[in-house]
Amino acid sequence: MNDVLMTFFDLGQYSQAPLPGNYNYWLVALSYLVAFIASFTALKIFERAHRHRSVSQQRTWTLITAIVAGIGVWSMHFIGMIVASFKRVRNQVSSKTNILSGTILGAGIGLMHYLGMEAMQLNAELLYSPYWFATSIVIAVALGILAMSTYSRSNTIRGAKSELRKIQFVTALIIAAAISGMHYVAMLAARFYANETTSSLTTGAQHQHLWLIYAIVIAVALIALISWVSSVIDRRFQHNYQAIRQSDKRIRELAFNDALTGLPNRRSLLDYLSQQQQEIPEDEHLVLFLLDIDKFKVLNNTLGPTLGDLLLQSVTHRLERVNLNVHMVARPSSNEFAVVARVRKSNNPVQAQSHALSMAKTLQQELQAPYSLKDYRHQCSMSLGATVISDLTKSSEDILVQAALALAEAKRNGMGEIRLYHPEMADAIEKRVKLESDLRHAIETRTGLELYVQPQLNENRTVIGAEALIRWHHSERGMVSPAEFIPLAEETGLIIGLGDLINEQACQIIRQWQQLGLNDWVLSINVSAPQFQQLDFVDKLNSLLKHYDVPAGQLKLELTESVLMQNLDEVIHKINELKQLGIQFALDDFGTGYSSLSYLMKLPFDVLKIDVSFVRDMFQSKQKEAIVQTIVQLAHNLGLKVVAEGVETEKHFDYLSSLGCDYFQGYLFSKPVAEPEFRQQNQ
Ligand code: C2E
Ligand code: CA
Ligand code: CA
Repeated sequence: MNDVLMTFFDLGQYSQAPLPGNYNYWLVALSYLVAFIASFTALKIFERAHRHRSVSQQRTWTLITAIVAGIGVWSMHFIGMIVASFKRVRNQVSSKTNILSGTILGAGIGLMHYLGMEAMQLNAELLYSPYWFATSIVIAVALGILAMSTYSRSNTIRGAKSELRKIQFVTALIIAAAISGMHYVAMLAARFYANETTSSLTTGAQHQHLWLIYAIVIAVALIALISWVSSVIDRRFQHNYQAIRQSDKRIRELAFNDALTGLPNRRSLLDYLSQQQQEIPEDEHLVLFLLDIDKFKVLNNTLGPTLGDLLLQSVTHRLERVNLNVHMVARPSSNEFAVVARVRKSNNPVQAQSHALSMAKTLQQELQAPYSLKDYRHQCSMSLGATVISDLTKSSEDILVQAALALAEAKRNGMGEIRLYHPEMADAIEKRVKLESDLRHAIETRTGLELYVQPQLNENRTVIGAEALIRWHHSERGMVSPAEFIPLAEETGLIIGLGDLINEQACQIIRQWQQLGLNDWVLSINVSAPQFQQLDFVDKLNSLLKHYDVPAGQLKLELTESVLMQNLDEVIHKINELKQLGIQFALDDFGTGYSSLSYLMKLPFDVLKIDVSFVRDMFQSKQKEAIVQTIVQLAHNLGLKVVAEGVETEKHFDYLSSLGCDYFQGYLFSKPVAEPEFRQQNQ
């Protein structure tokens, strides 16, 4: 044992003094710098390798690390250890790991150094002072552990790049200190004893090899620099590449899916329908359902868009889980859902239709069940349109149009209706287009449009005014009902011009009443939502009143709840402005719409109108009778007068009077008539 130790350690076995050795301090500094550059680069490259998700790229960068290590003389001492030990530190943060990795690093540096020294071929005997040998190992291990503990802090920082760079910089400084410190202390430990044949370990020989040292230093620095630059380029490239994978995906998502529900959008639906037309089995028909939540706008306006969104998401959820042979659920537009399904073909085409109808009913039932929206329980009705496709050459756009026509028909018939497409629907559209063009012509030329009036009486049957109702004498069709052309005018925007015309005729009527001394009569005019929304509605009406020199107190505006579904604050502001002029307000069709009490409380109405549909059939249904009674009580509690319209019989009148109803309007007294006729009857 002693023999072995004596071959390594200087235990005083030589009687002569060791050969003297001098340090070139400039080279010492340079060596430290090289160690630092190599360490720092190694850390950077390691970071690069660590960030790559793909194993092959990780390997490439680890290989580059190894090349730097292989060529750099100093790097050779530690780079292998860095990669191995840093991997541990990067993945776990614990002081145990730091000590272990630091020890591996320090011991590795020492091992490499002493092995390298042993590999030197010298014409001298090389022995080590045990004291300096131990010190060199302690320095390497202690600084190794310090380097690892410092580097492990990079695990706890997220995103702060400057912080990471600082940690890498300090770690590299410590590693370089570990290597240099270890090396020079180890050199202190080294004692060279001259052999008999010795002659060449002289300072002169060292000078001859200086060029080699410089060449190595420059090579290491260059390689470190190149590796560093490539790691920076790689990082930029990887960053850009990731940003392009992500945005591409998002664009595709936005292009083909609805952002709120995640459902395929109109474009995806059309693509899917075309594809289905090609792939559908011979014994099946394709069916497209379009669904619409009735009065969705009201929910959105009263409960806020968050609950509105929640409802749309809940509907989506139910549609995706409905127990039917559903092939696709989509959201082709903001207020429509689409469901693609299949039904069996049979010799009798009616059978496929009735199958589709029963599927529609199931869908409707499923979706009309109450929803829990946060703390709010919401029940809504659904309108459905559907089309059964038997013609495989139909384009996907045509299929969607058919279902949309059926849905429009369902909605025209009220809430919660279902309609299947049939070819006559297309004819109806053609008719509507013709009607629209005729109406536009009538408004532009002011021909055939006349305001009729229907008297309103108090409980003593004294006329207190009238409601103005527009009539259209069509040159081919005769009288067209406003119930037909007003919704058309609202949908097409023609209501603006038509409304202006109606308001003007109303002012002319009041002017005549004025001239005849009929100052107590109030004329009520109907104002549609798009009319009331006009920014200059107040100004236009005000100028009309001034132009015809009529008192605003003889004018009343009838608004339906559809007006209130818009920006409520704006509506309240407008109503107040008009009220200041002296104009009165009535809430029309109460009971048919959303009948929101919160609206009623917020809005300064004078009168509440109970719709024809309640009064007319009041005695046929206990429910309707109760509704009428409740509305009268409610209105009175809120300090409003009540007008009952659709009073057709004495029985109606008696019952409504007994409830305390204030005013009455209906066929019992008069149908709407031309104004001169009304005056004749009541003057
Ligand atoms: P509305 O405002 O609810 O008008 C009441 C409707 O009930 C009128 O139908 C009227 O003729 C009818 N009616 C009145 N008394 C009775 C009755 O005892 N029994 C029955 N069965 N019906 C009665 P009309 O004139 O066909 O108007 C229908 C709707 O068209 C109106 O409903 C209103 O919403 C709209 N409209 C009519 N004229 C105008 C107008 O000048 N401007 C606007 N924006 N809409 C109008
Ligand atoms: Ca009305
Ligand atoms: Ca009404």
